[in-house]
Amino acid sequence: MIFPEGIQVHSDPEELLTLFFNKRQYSKVMVLADRNTAGSCYSLVREHLPAHELIEVAAGEEHKNLETATEIWRKLTTANLDRSSVLFIIGGGVLGDLGGFCASTFKRGIDFVLMPTTLLSQVDASIGGKLGIDFMGYKNHIGVFREPVATLICPLFLKSLPDRELRSGFAEVIKHCLISDAEKWELIRTKGYQEQDWEMLIRHSVAFKTSVVSKDPLEKGLRKILNFGHTIGHALEACSLQTSNRLFHGEAIAAGMIAESFISSELGLMSSGDETEVKTYLRRIYGTTEVPSLAEFMPAIRQDKKNVGKKILMALPDRIGNAVWDIEVSEELVNEALKRLAM
Ligand code: NAD
Repeated sequence: MIFPEGIQVHSDPEELLTLFFNKRQYSKVMVLADRNTAGSCYSLVREHLPAHELIEVAAGEEHKNLETATEIWRKLTTANLDRSSVLFIIGGGVLGDLGGFCASTFKRGIDFVLMPTTLLSQVDASIGGKLGIDFMGYKNHIGVFREPVATLICPLFLKSLPDRELRSGFAEVIKHCLISDAEKWELIRTKGYQEQDWEMLIRHSVAFKTSVVSKDPLEKGLRKILNFGHTIGHALEACSLQTSNRLFHGEAIAAGMIAESFISSELGLMSSGDETEVKTYLRRIYGTTEVPSLAEFMPAIRQDKKNVGKKILMALPDRIGNAVWDIEVSEELVNEALKRLAM
């Protein structure tokens, strides 16, 4: 499978690093890892990296904020990084979004490399150039579009990934199949998440997402199909951040896909048979979701970056394997979908 230059998938991390650094010269290499990936992933590649310094930050979505960004900018400054330096980011989607944002804004932008370590970041977050941090409780509220100089994907890192993280990342794989490939959907839905062929599915997702992003890098049209499950999913995720029962990103997106499939079927797009098939499999993998009150949920939905004015716009599958975008959905139908999700 051919990916755009810069994106590599390989089972041997040494091979990935050697290929990259053979072609590039940097005045300074700074590595960014979080407390978990420093132990489980950076330690696997450390000896294959050129001379470097390490920045280690706290792990988790609650640290994808201005405070951690400030900590990173401060360390880049005190280490005297110049514009010929590179930030090498070894971590999941949180670190990729946060570190990429810091690199893109530091001295108006230095090179950065993503070495994604979670399934979610390997199949989704590391592709497409969206970077940013959460702000005032809103996901990815402050950010930019900018591409890394390379994305080096090594499925080996998944070996140390906690089970719940693997299951969370699987939601984006499912989404890619539901909006683009009915055959792959048939293949994955016969198995649980632990029995999947990850290397094959990572290659499939990367090829699909890169082809969509290359046709519509700034999300003016086609790219919006990638938002299936995300309007309701992001709002659920944002609400859960305020509670002790935080939803993982993929868990929120899985619930969002169930709710948005219901909306699609109510609007006469998806057949009710397809909707039931999607809901049955997602419930089998993810169970049921705790749903917030409408008073908490609707403000989060109204903040969605895809909305235009007061209109709520969604990307929805019109059948398994295909999706349409910019579908206007009423608040009443969103309420109805939320009620159904709680059942
Ligand atoms: P994450 O980055 O928080 O990683 C999950 C946890 O697993 C963390 O505790 C991390 O330290 C740990 N971890 C990571 N890799 C590990 C490994 N190999 N072994 C052991 N532990 C490991 O979470 P995530 O699910 O990767 O990313 C979620 C984030 O991605 C969200 O902030 C979301 O907004 C963002 N995202 C961005 C895009 C985009 O296009 N930029 C797309 C989707 C999601």
